[in-house]
Amino acid sequence: MEQSEQARLVVEARELTRVYGNGAGTAVRALDGVSFQVRAGEFVAVMGPSGSGKSTLLNVIGALDRPTSGQIRVNGEDLSTLRDLDSFRARTVGFVFQLHNLIPTLTALENVMVPMQGAGLSGALQRRRATELLELVGLPGRGHHLPGQLSGGQRQKVAIARALANRPALLLADEPTGNLDSVSGDEVMGVFEQLHSEYGTAIIIVTHDVTVARRTHRILMMQDGRIIREDLVGDACTEALKALARSELGQALRANVPVAGLSGAEYLAFRQVLARLEE
Ligand code: ADP
Ligand code: MG
Repeated sequence: MEQSEQARLVVEARELTRVYGNGAGTAVRALDGVSFQVRAGEFVAVMGPSGSGKSTLLNVIGALDRPTSGQIRVNGEDLSTLRDLDSFRARTVGFVFQLHNLIPTLTALENVMVPMQGAGLSGALQRRRATELLELVGLPGRGHHLPGQLSGGQRQKVAIARALANRPALLLADEPTGNLDSVSGDEVMGVFEQLHSEYGTAIIIVTHDVTVARRTHRILMMQDGRIIREDLVGDACTEALKALARSELGQALRANVPVAGLSGAEYLAFRQVLARLEE
């Protein structure tokens, strides 16, 4: 990926609010001043307690909902001034929900082809692309199965393939493993990781599951409609810290051995930083 591509922002949110209801006593500030950015190709998790605004945030990013105030740009387009949100959604974002929402009377292949309608592709081309997408998510040869003939994990993989139908710059997933057993959830996460690493698709995934979140690169923690914390996962900084922890100095610090030249406060600060690695 080129430098400029990496620096490009897929999501730029500034002071987003979303208020439901308008009665003074009943208004709910589902989003209460959310600002953050996602770079092209980033893999981000959103965590936080139920009702903290995670789904609202995802819906605003994906233009399924409009913010009450604030600015949101996705893939360079300002959603507050954009007229045709339907066409924006079809071109730019792919959604995966907790419940797969597949059409039960259509085959897996046909489900993946649904969002391609209106994109000006011939039927044969649609079929070919859908077949490739089902291979990509690890379901070769399952194109003719109905959703009811697939396992929960397989259905969710079809839903991912469908979300990719129009090659979106951004994939949004709202608790995609929430309804799956841990083995299927693990497989579905594997698909997201592969998409991310091989195709550089930016992914934002809402999850309750820490093990899921830790497979992304950055975790945004929400509470009461705000992002209260941001954690980097497995990034260059962590790698550098690991190298430090393995060093002679790191070993001494971890073993509580006094180190000449470090004050008590400095010693403590080093130990606290290294302790983050062991959490
Ligand atoms: P999360 O996905 O983190 O569980 P949500 O974004 O679904 O949270 O909801 C955030 C807050 O907004 C909650 O208090 C919820 O009850 C409220 N809310 C969400 N959708 C609506 C709606 N359509 N009408 C009124 N309140 C809503
Ligand atoms: Mg939710």
